[in-house]
Amino acid sequence: MTASAGPAVARDINTAAVLEVLQSDGPLSQAELVRRTGLARPTVAAIARTLLHHGVAEAAGPDPRSTTGRPGILIAFRPACAVAAVVRLLPHGIDARLVDAGGRTHGTVTVANPEVAATTLPLVAALLRDLADEQHLDRPTSVSLLLAGRLDPVTQCVVGSALDPGPVPLDDVEAALSAPVTVLNPTASAALGVARTGLHRDALVVFVDHGVGVGVVSGGRVLQGATGAVGEVGHSRVTDSDRRCECGRIGCLETVTAGWYIRSRAAELLGADAAGVATAGATVAQLHDLHHPGVDALLDEAAERLGLATSWLVNTLNPASVLLGGTPFVAGAHRFRDVFAGAVRAHSLPSHAEGLLIDLADPTADLDGATAAALDRLTVLGGVPVRRPTGAAARVPQA
Ligand SMILES: [Zn+2]
Repeated sequence: MTASAGPAVARDINTAAVLEVLQSDGPLSQAELVRRTGLARPTVAAIARTLLHHGVAEAAGPDPRSTTGRPGILIAFRPACAVAAVVRLLPHGIDARLVDAGGRTHGTVTVANPEVAATTLPLVAALLRDLADEQHLDRPTSVSLLLAGRLDPVTQCVVGSALDPGPVPLDDVEAALSAPVTVLNPTASAALGVARTGLHRDALVVFVDHGVGVGVVSGGRVLQGATGAVGEVGHSRVTDSDRRCECGRIGCLETVTAGWYIRSRAAELLGADAAGVATAGATVAQLHDLHHPGVDALLDEAAERLGLATSWLVNTLNPASVLLGGTPFVAGAHRFRDVFAGAVRAHSLPSHAEGLLIDLADPTADLDGATAAALDRLTVLGGVPVRRPTGAAARVPQA
């Protein structure tokens, strides 16, 4: 550690404090920044100069409250000062978006995913580069990568993902994308999105999309597990299915509840005429709207089975809320939710079912979680976090 490390750390902490106030309450005058941060006037003046010089803040006109002498200027946080990216590797495509330091999305792009895994990272890098140029933004300096798979916390390798069937060192992923990368599976990301709303301190997020998983919010924090693989309930066995799962095993819960199963079975039931409707990314609500008795029975059965599986977790983890979905797949699927909720309540202990909130999750929960994770690691001025590193729990209101 150099002799100057102490003052540098203090300066960064002070700068972060000014940034936080500017983001929540700006534009503000320097006098107001002094009052709100409790920092010395010369300290605030020096920080303001630095922020303005590096484009982290910008002048926002004269201070209307200046009454004496030379009127001061108002200072505003400049959200475009730093850019994060959220990239989803979907079963059949890549979806990427840029988010400024204020959390606003600028530009999204979706491309068909070539199945050649080795080309995926260079393709993502090119997409992000083009998107930044198109939006006249800087290149992203923090990336959330949402994928089916996980980061092994011991080996620091991405495993079981579409990037490569084998382990891919996180270092290689970060080198390819020229930024720190946060790897999340969609279930964990949806749970993080739910946790960050501050509304759910103890919740199960029953993620249903192409696959099925359960994220656990406990005490306001998202459970990670020993190997970063919490939530794979979709690959627990049910005893009465002999279908082959996408994971290669027989009779997983996904073979009776997952989006991939629902869509393919609905296509079979609807026959050739309407197969396009069912197979081209239909949502549960759209399938219900077909008013096809066979499809309705399929959806009811899937919801019932998912509710039964969830009841085991309700009894085990004693959540206050169970939130279903997390992506557009079950958005607005009220009948599916009601059948699911009925099964959860019927099969859980009465003491655990009583007072339990069961509802649809926000359909953007997975994106919200990934965005929060990317913004958490966004820095300016060579290492000052844009957001203060407060844990989700700190912001959750106490009951
Ligand atoms: Zn499976």
